[in-house]
Amino acid sequence: MDGGIKIGKIFGIDVSLDYSWFLIFALITFALTFTVFPQMSPGLSLATYFAMGLITSLLFFGSVLFHEAMHSLIAKRNGLNIEDIRLMVFGGVSELTEEPHSPGVEFRMAIVGPLSSIVLGGISLGIFFIGRGLNLGPFINVPAFWLGYINLLLGVFNLLPGFPLDGGRVLRSAVWYFTGSLKRATSVASGFGKGLAYTMILAGILGPFLGDLSLLWFVLIGWYLLRAADSGYRQVIFEETLEGIKVDQAMTRDPETVNPDISIEQMVKDYFMQHNWLVYPVVEDGSVEGIISIDNIKDVPRRSWKRKRVRDIMRPISTEFVTTPETEISNLMPKLNSKSNGRLLIIKGGRLLGILTMTDVNRFVIRRLKAEEARRSAA
Ligand SMILES: [Zn+2]
Repeated sequence: MDGGIKIGKIFGIDVSLDYSWFLIFALITFALTFTVFPQMSPGLSLATYFAMGLITSLLFFGSVLFHEAMHSLIAKRNGLNIEDIRLMVFGGVSELTEEPHSPGVEFRMAIVGPLSSIVLGGISLGIFFIGRGLNLGPFINVPAFWLGYINLLLGVFNLLPGFPLDGGRVLRSAVWYFTGSLKRATSVASGFGKGLAYTMILAGILGPFLGDLSLLWFVLIGWYLLRAADSGYRQVIFEETLEGIKVDQAMTRDPETVNPDISIEQMVKDYFMQHNWLVYPVVEDGSVEGIISIDNIKDVPRRSWKRKRVRDIMRPISTEFVTTPETEISNLMPKLNSKSNGRLLIIKGGRLLGILTMTDVNRFVIRRLKAEEARRSAA
Protein backbone atom coordinates (compact mmCIF):
# COMPACT_ATOMS: atom_id res chain seq x y z
CA MET A 1 0.00 0.00 0.00
CA ASP A 2 1.18 3.51 -0.68
CA GLY A 3 1.07 6.56 1.58
CA GLY A 4 1.98 4.70 4.75
CA ILE A 5 4.75 3.23 6.84
CA LYS A 6 5.03 -0.47 7.50
CA ILE A 7 5.54 -1.18 11.19
CA GLY A 8 5.33 -4.96 11.39
CA LYS A 9 3.19 -8.04 11.06
CA ILE A 10 0.38 -9.50 13.14
CA PHE A 11 -1.04 -12.98 12.36
CA GLY A 12 1.07 -12.79 9.18
CA ILE A 13 -0.71 -9.61 7.99
CA ASP A 14 1.23 -6.40 7.31
CA VAL A 15 0.43 -3.53 9.66
CA SER A 16 1.04 -0.01 8.42
CA LEU A 17 0.53 3.52 9.68
CA ASP A 18 -1.18 5.95 7.36
CA TYR A 19 0.39 9.42 7.45
CA SER A 20 -2.90 10.74 8.86
CA TRP A 21 -2.25 8.53 11.89
CA PHE A 22 0.55 10.82 13.11
CA LEU A 23 -1.80 13.78 13.08
CA ILE A 24 -4.47 12.05 15.13
CA PHE A 25 -1.87 10.56 17.48
CA ALA A 26 -0.49 14.03 18.18
CA LEU A 27 -4.01 15.46 18.65
CA ILE A 28 -5.04 12.78 21.14
CA THR A 29 -1.79 13.06 23.10
CA PHE A 30 -2.23 16.84 23.17
CA ALA A 31 -5.86 16.68 24.30
CA LEU A 32 -5.10 14.11 27.03
CA THR A 33 -2.08 16.06 28.30
CA PHE A 34 -3.61 19.53 28.38
CA THR A 35 -7.33 19.08 28.97
CA VAL A 36 -8.63 15.55 29.68
CA PHE A 37 -6.16 14.39 32.34
CA PRO A 38 -5.80 17.74 34.18
CA GLN A 39 -9.62 17.81 34.49
CA MET A 40 -9.86 14.20 35.67
CA SER A 41 -7.01 14.50 38.16
CA PRO A 42 -5.89 18.07 38.96
CA GLY A 43 -2.62 19.03 40.63
CA LEU A 44 -0.03 16.90 38.83
CA SER A 45 3.01 18.25 36.96
CA LEU A 46 2.93 18.90 33.23
CA ALA A 47 5.64 16.27 32.69
CA THR A 48 3.44 13.68 34.44
CA TYR A 49 0.41 14.61 32.33
CA PHE A 50 2.53 14.39 29.20
CA ALA A 51 3.95 10.96 30.12
CA MET A 52 0.44 9.73 30.91
CA GLY A 53 -0.90 11.23 27.68
CA LEU A 54 1.78 9.65 25.52
CA ILE A 55 1.47 6.17 27.07
CA THR A 56 -2.34 6.30 26.96
CA SER A 57 -2.30 7.38 23.28
CA LEU A 58 -0.06 4.41 22.45
CA LEU A 59 -2.31 2.03 24.39
CA PHE A 60 -5.35 3.48 22.62
CA PHE A 61 -3.84 2.75 19.23
CA GLY A 62 -2.86 -0.68 20.52
CA SER A 63 -6.58 -1.19 21.28
CA VAL A 64 -7.58 -0.10 17.78
CA LEU A 65 -4.97 -2.45 16.34
CA PHE A 66 -6.32 -5.30 18.47
CA HIS A 67 -9.86 -4.60 17.21
CA GLU A 68 -8.68 -4.70 13.58
CA ALA A 69 -6.43 -7.71 14.13
CA MET A 70 -9.41 -9.69 15.43
CA HIS A 71 -11.41 -8.84 12.27
CA SER A 72 -8.46 -9.93 10.18
CA LEU A 73 -7.88 -13.11 12.13
CA ILE A 74 -11.48 -14.27 11.65
CA ALA A 75 -11.36 -13.24 7.98
CA LYS A 76 -8.16 -15.21 7.42
CA ARG A 77 -9.49 -18.26 9.24
CA ASN A 78 -12.39 -18.21 6.77
CA GLY A 79 -10.10 -18.12 3.78
CA LEU A 80 -10.45 -14.42 2.93
CA ASN A 81 -7.47 -12.50 1.63
CA ILE A 82 -6.44 -9.52 3.78
CA GLU A 83 -4.11 -7.08 2.06
CA ASP A 84 -3.02 -5.27 5.20
CA ILE A 85 -4.18 -3.52 8.35
CA ARG A 86 -3.66 0.21 8.43
CA LEU A 87 -4.11 2.64 11.24
CA MET A 88 -5.36 6.03 10.15
CA VAL A 89 -7.44 9.06 11.11
CA PHE A 90 -10.66 7.18 11.82
CA GLY A 91 -9.06 4.31 13.69
CA GLY A 92 -8.18 1.28 11.65
CA VAL A 93 -9.06 -0.33 8.38
CA SER A 94 -8.52 -3.95 7.42
CA GLU A 95 -8.12 -4.01 3.68
CA LEU A 96 -10.19 -6.86 2.32
CA THR A 97 -9.59 -7.65 -1.34
CA GLU A 98 -12.79 -9.71 -1.47
CA GLU A 99 -16.16 -9.83 0.24
CA PRO A 100 -17.13 -12.62 2.68
CA HIS A 101 -18.60 -15.68 0.99
CA SER A 102 -21.53 -16.27 3.33
CA PRO A 103 -23.70 -14.41 5.85
CA GLY A 104 -22.25 -16.53 8.68
CA VAL A 105 -18.68 -15.54 7.87
CA GLU A 106 -19.65 -11.88 7.51
CA PHE A 107 -21.45 -11.95 10.85
CA ARG A 108 -18.56 -13.51 12.79
CA MET A 109 -16.02 -11.28 11.10
CA ALA A 110 -17.99 -8.11 11.87
CA ILE A 111 -19.11 -8.82 15.43
CA VAL A 112 -15.66 -9.80 16.71
CA GLY A 113 -14.37 -6.20 16.34
CA PRO A 114 -16.85 -4.42 18.66
CA LEU A 115 -16.74 -7.39 21.05
CA SER A 116 -12.94 -7.06 21.27
CA SER A 117 -13.28 -3.35 22.04
CA ILE A 118 -15.92 -4.00 24.68
CA VAL A 119 -13.77 -6.70 26.31
CA LEU A 120 -10.75 -4.37 26.31
CA GLY A 121 -12.95 -1.63 27.79
CA GLY A 122 -14.13 -3.99 30.50
CA ILE A 123 -10.56 -5.03 31.35
CA SER A 124 -9.45 -1.39 31.56
CA LEU A 125 -12.35 -0.47 33.83
CA GLY A 126 -11.54 -3.54 35.94
CA ILE A 127 -7.97 -2.27 36.30
CA PHE A 128 -9.38 1.14 37.24
CA PHE A 129 -11.58 -0.28 40.02
CA ILE A 130 -8.81 -2.53 41.37
CA GLY A 131 -6.34 0.37 41.12
CA ARG A 132 -8.68 2.64 43.01
CA GLY A 133 -9.24 -0.01 45.68
CA LEU A 134 -5.51 -0.55 46.10
CA ASN A 135 -4.77 3.20 45.95
CA LEU A 136 -2.38 2.78 43.01
CA GLY A 137 -2.57 6.49 42.24
CA PRO A 138 -3.63 8.59 39.23
CA PHE A 139 -0.80 7.36 36.99
CA ILE A 140 -2.59 3.98 36.71
CA ASN A 141 -6.20 4.89 37.53
CA VAL A 142 -6.74 7.86 35.24
CA PRO A 143 -5.46 6.25 31.99
CA ALA A 144 -7.24 2.98 32.88
CA PHE A 145 -10.54 4.82 33.30
CA TRP A 146 -10.13 6.78 30.05
CA LEU A 147 -9.11 3.65 28.07
CA GLY A 148 -12.07 1.78 29.50
CA TYR A 149 -14.45 4.56 28.53
CA ILE A 150 -13.00 5.06 25.04
CA ASN A 151 -12.94 1.33 24.19
CA LEU A 152 -16.56 0.90 25.30
CA LEU A 153 -17.46 3.95 23.22
CA LEU A 154 -15.59 2.50 20.24
CA GLY A 155 -17.34 -0.85 20.65
CA VAL A 156 -20.79 0.72 20.90
CA PHE A 157 -20.23 3.22 18.09
CA ASN A 158 -19.08 0.44 15.78
CA LEU A 159 -22.24 -1.51 16.56
CA LEU A 160 -24.43 1.23 15.04
CA PRO A 161 -26.26 -0.51 12.21
CA GLY A 162 -24.95 1.49 9.25
CA PHE A 163 -22.69 -0.07 6.61
CA PRO A 164 -19.64 0.08 6.51
CA LEU A 165 -19.53 0.19 10.32
CA ASP A 166 -19.27 -3.24 11.92
CA GLY A 167 -22.90 -3.00 13.07
CA GLY A 168 -23.88 -2.29 9.46
CA ARG A 169 -22.08 -5.46 8.44
CA VAL A 170 -23.95 -7.37 11.13
CA LEU A 171 -27.21 -5.95 9.75
CA ARG A 172 -26.12 -6.88 6.22
CA SER A 173 -25.35 -10.45 7.24
CA ALA A 174 -28.81 -10.74 8.81
CA VAL A 175 -30.66 -9.42 5.74
CA TRP A 176 -28.43 -11.57 3.54
CA TYR A 177 -29.25 -14.63 5.65
CA PHE A 178 -33.00 -14.06 5.50
CA THR A 179 -33.33 -12.92 1.85
CA GLY A 180 -30.44 -14.87 0.30
CA SER A 181 -29.46 -11.76 -1.66
CA LEU A 182 -26.18 -9.99 -0.95
CA LYS A 183 -27.22 -7.16 -3.27
CA ARG A 184 -30.47 -6.54 -1.38
CA ALA A 185 -28.66 -6.83 1.97
CA THR A 186 -25.97 -4.36 0.93
CA SER A 187 -28.58 -1.95 -0.35
CA VAL A 188 -30.44 -2.03 2.99
CA ALA A 189 -27.26 -1.76 5.11
CA SER A 190 -25.84 1.09 3.00
CA GLY A 191 -29.19 2.87 3.24
CA PHE A 192 -28.92 2.73 7.03
CA GLY A 193 -25.26 3.80 6.73
CA LYS A 194 -26.22 6.86 4.70
CA GLY A 195 -29.01 7.71 7.14
CA LEU A 196 -26.55 7.49 10.01
CA ALA A 197 -24.00 9.60 8.12
CA TYR A 198 -26.54 12.35 7.38
CA THR A 199 -27.66 12.34 11.04
CA MET A 200 -24.06 12.80 12.17
CA ILE A 201 -23.43 15.59 9.67
CA LEU A 202 -26.61 17.36 10.79
CA ALA A 203 -25.69 16.97 14.48
CA GLY A 204 -22.23 18.33 13.69
CA ILE A 205 -23.64 21.37 11.90
CA LEU A 206 -26.18 22.05 14.69
CA GLY A 207 -23.53 21.47 17.38
CA PRO A 208 -22.10 25.02 17.47
CA PHE A 209 -25.64 26.45 17.83
CA LEU A 210 -26.22 24.17 20.80
CA GLY A 211 -22.93 25.37 22.26
CA ASP A 212 -20.88 22.25 21.50
CA LEU A 213 -18.03 22.83 19.05
CA SER A 214 -16.65 19.32 19.48
CA LEU A 215 -19.63 17.99 17.53
CA LEU A 216 -17.96 19.47 14.42
CA TRP A 217 -15.98 16.21 14.33
CA PHE A 218 -19.24 14.51 13.41
CA VAL A 219 -19.32 16.38 10.09
CA LEU A 220 -15.99 14.83 9.15
CA ILE A 221 -16.88 11.33 10.36
CA GLY A 222 -20.32 11.54 8.74
CA TRP A 223 -18.84 12.60 5.43
CA TYR A 224 -16.34 9.73 5.58
CA LEU A 225 -19.13 7.25 6.34
CA LEU A 226 -21.24 8.58 3.51
CA ARG A 227 -18.48 7.99 0.98
CA ALA A 228 -17.66 4.56 2.37
CA ALA A 229 -21.32 3.47 2.36
CA ASP A 230 -21.57 4.42 -1.29
CA SER A 231 -18.36 2.78 -2.47
CA GLY A 232 -19.13 -0.38 -0.49
CA TYR A 233 -22.43 -0.65 -2.31
CA ARG A 234 -20.86 -0.12 -5.71
CA GLN A 235 -18.21 -2.73 -4.93
CA VAL A 236 -20.91 -5.33 -4.32
CA ILE A 237 -22.80 -4.44 -7.51
CA PHE A 238 -19.50 -4.74 -9.36
CA GLU A 239 -18.75 -8.18 -7.93
CA GLU A 240 -22.28 -9.41 -8.46
CA THR A 241 -22.19 -8.35 -12.11
CA LEU A 242 -18.95 -10.28 -12.61
CA GLU A 243 -20.26 -13.45 -11.01
CA GLY A 244 -19.76 -16.41 -13.34
CA ILE A 245 -18.34 -14.20 -16.12
CA LYS A 246 -15.42 -15.81 -17.95
CA VAL A 247 -12.29 -14.17 -19.28
CA ASP A 248 -13.19 -14.47 -22.97
CA GLN A 249 -16.36 -12.42 -22.46
CA ALA A 250 -14.39 -9.34 -21.40
CA MET A 251 -10.85 -9.63 -22.79
CA THR A 252 -9.41 -7.52 -25.61
CA ARG A 253 -8.99 -9.83 -28.57
CA ASP A 254 -6.02 -9.95 -30.95
CA PRO A 255 -3.85 -7.50 -29.02
CA GLU A 256 -0.89 -5.76 -30.59
CA THR A 257 2.19 -7.99 -30.35
CA VAL A 258 5.91 -7.44 -30.83
CA ASN A 259 8.44 -9.48 -32.82
CA PRO A 260 11.41 -10.52 -30.64
CA ASP A 261 13.98 -9.54 -33.28
CA ILE A 262 13.27 -5.81 -33.53
CA SER A 263 15.69 -3.43 -31.79
CA ILE A 264 14.89 -1.61 -28.57
CA GLU A 265 15.03 1.64 -30.48
CA GLN A 266 12.36 0.48 -32.91
CA MET A 267 10.32 -0.89 -30.02
CA VAL A 268 10.27 2.51 -28.32
CA LYS A 269 9.56 4.43 -31.53
CA ASP A 270 6.91 2.14 -33.04
CA TYR A 271 5.19 0.89 -29.90
CA PHE A 272 5.71 2.78 -26.66
CA MET A 273 5.58 6.18 -28.32
CA GLN A 274 2.62 5.27 -30.54
CA HIS A 275 0.23 3.58 -28.14
CA ASN A 276 -0.80 3.79 -24.51
CA TRP A 277 0.11 0.20 -23.63
CA LEU A 278 2.99 -0.20 -21.18
CA VAL A 279 3.37 -3.95 -21.69
CA TYR A 280 3.41 -6.02 -24.90
CA PRO A 281 3.42 -9.76 -25.51
CA VAL A 282 6.39 -10.89 -27.60
CA VAL A 283 5.22 -13.32 -30.28
CA GLU A 284 7.14 -15.27 -32.92
CA ASP A 285 5.46 -17.57 -35.46
CA GLY A 286 2.21 -17.46 -33.53
CA SER A 287 3.67 -18.59 -30.20
CA VAL A 288 4.23 -16.38 -27.17
CA GLU A 289 7.92 -16.02 -26.26
CA GLY A 290 7.77 -13.49 -23.45
CA ILE A 291 6.55 -10.06 -22.46
CA ILE A 292 8.23 -6.70 -22.60
CA SER A 293 7.33 -3.67 -20.54
CA ILE A 294 8.52 -0.10 -20.47
CA ASP A 295 10.22 -0.92 -17.14
CA ASN A 296 12.50 -3.47 -18.84
CA ILE A 297 13.73 -0.76 -21.17
CA LYS A 298 14.48 1.73 -18.41
CA ASP A 299 17.43 -0.41 -17.31
CA VAL A 300 19.03 -0.47 -20.78
CA PRO A 301 21.47 2.42 -21.46
CA ARG A 302 20.40 4.66 -24.35
CA ARG A 303 23.53 3.91 -26.40
CA SER A 304 22.73 0.19 -26.67
CA TRP A 305 19.17 0.69 -27.90
CA LYS A 306 20.22 0.17 -31.57
CA ARG A 307 22.24 -2.98 -30.86
CA LYS A 308 20.02 -4.74 -28.34
CA ARG A 309 16.90 -6.58 -29.42
CA VAL A 310 13.61 -7.15 -27.65
CA ARG A 311 14.58 -10.83 -27.24
CA ASP A 312 17.59 -9.81 -25.10
CA ILE A 313 15.62 -7.98 -22.45
CA MET A 314 12.11 -9.46 -22.48
CA ARG A 315 10.84 -11.33 -19.44
CA PRO A 316 9.92 -14.98 -19.88
CA ILE A 317 6.25 -15.85 -19.61
CA SER A 318 5.48 -16.94 -16.08
CA THR A 319 2.23 -18.56 -14.99
CA GLU A 320 1.61 -15.43 -12.94
CA PHE A 321 0.86 -13.48 -16.16
CA VAL A 322 -1.09 -16.16 -17.98
CA THR A 323 -4.63 -17.44 -17.79
CA THR A 324 -7.12 -19.32 -19.96
CA PRO A 325 -10.26 -17.97 -21.67
CA GLU A 326 -12.45 -20.22 -19.48
CA THR A 327 -11.22 -18.84 -16.14
CA GLU A 328 -13.76 -16.88 -14.09
CA ILE A 329 -12.75 -13.23 -13.82
CA SER A 330 -13.69 -13.01 -10.14
CA ASN A 331 -10.85 -15.44 -9.36
CA LEU A 332 -8.36 -13.13 -11.06
CA MET A 333 -9.14 -9.90 -9.19
CA PRO A 334 -6.08 -9.99 -6.88
CA LYS A 335 -3.80 -10.37 -9.95
CA LEU A 336 -5.60 -7.68 -11.94
CA ASN A 337 -5.44 -5.25 -9.03
CA SER A 338 -1.76 -5.87 -8.34
CA LYS A 339 0.42 -2.89 -9.07
CA SER A 340 3.38 -4.94 -10.29
CA ASN A 341 1.48 -6.51 -13.17
CA GLY A 342 -2.20 -5.80 -13.70
CA ARG A 343 -2.19 -7.44 -17.13
CA LEU A 344 -2.95 -11.03 -18.01
CA LEU A 345 -2.22 -12.85 -21.24
CA ILE A 346 -4.93 -15.22 -22.38
CA ILE A 347 -3.25 -18.23 -23.95
CA LYS A 348 -4.74 -21.47 -25.22
CA GLY A 349 -2.79 -24.24 -26.94
CA GLY A 350 0.30 -22.00 -27.01
CA ARG A 351 -1.55 -19.29 -28.97
CA LEU A 352 -2.25 -15.79 -27.68
CA LEU A 353 -6.00 -15.10 -27.83
CA GLY A 354 -6.19 -11.81 -25.96
CA ILE A 355 -5.24 -9.60 -23.06
CA LEU A 356 -7.22 -8.78 -19.93
CA THR A 357 -6.75 -5.66 -17.81
CA MET A 358 -8.80 -3.90 -15.15
CA THR A 359 -9.89 -1.46 -17.89
CA ASP A 360 -11.42 -4.38 -19.86
CA VAL A 361 -13.20 -5.60 -16.73
CA ASN A 362 -14.57 -2.14 -15.86
CA ARG A 363 -15.74 -1.65 -19.43
CA PHE A 364 -17.51 -5.01 -19.36
CA VAL A 365 -19.31 -4.23 -16.08
CA ILE A 366 -20.47 -0.80 -17.27
CA ARG A 367 -21.74 -2.25 -20.57
CA ARG A 368 -23.60 -5.00 -18.75
CA LEU A 369 -25.19 -2.64 -16.20
CA LYS A 370 -26.30 -0.28 -19.00
CA ALA A 371 -27.83 -3.18 -20.92
CA GLU A 372 -29.67 -4.30 -17.78
CA GLU A 373 -30.97 -0.78 -17.24
CA ALA A 374 -32.12 -0.51 -20.85
CA ARG A 375 -33.92 -3.84 -20.58
CA ARG A 376 -35.64 -2.68 -17.38
CA SER A 377 -36.82 0.62 -18.80
CA ALA A 378 -38.05 -1.11 -22.00
CA ALA A 379 -40.09 -3.59 -19.98
ZN1 LIG B 1 -14.37 -2.94 13.32
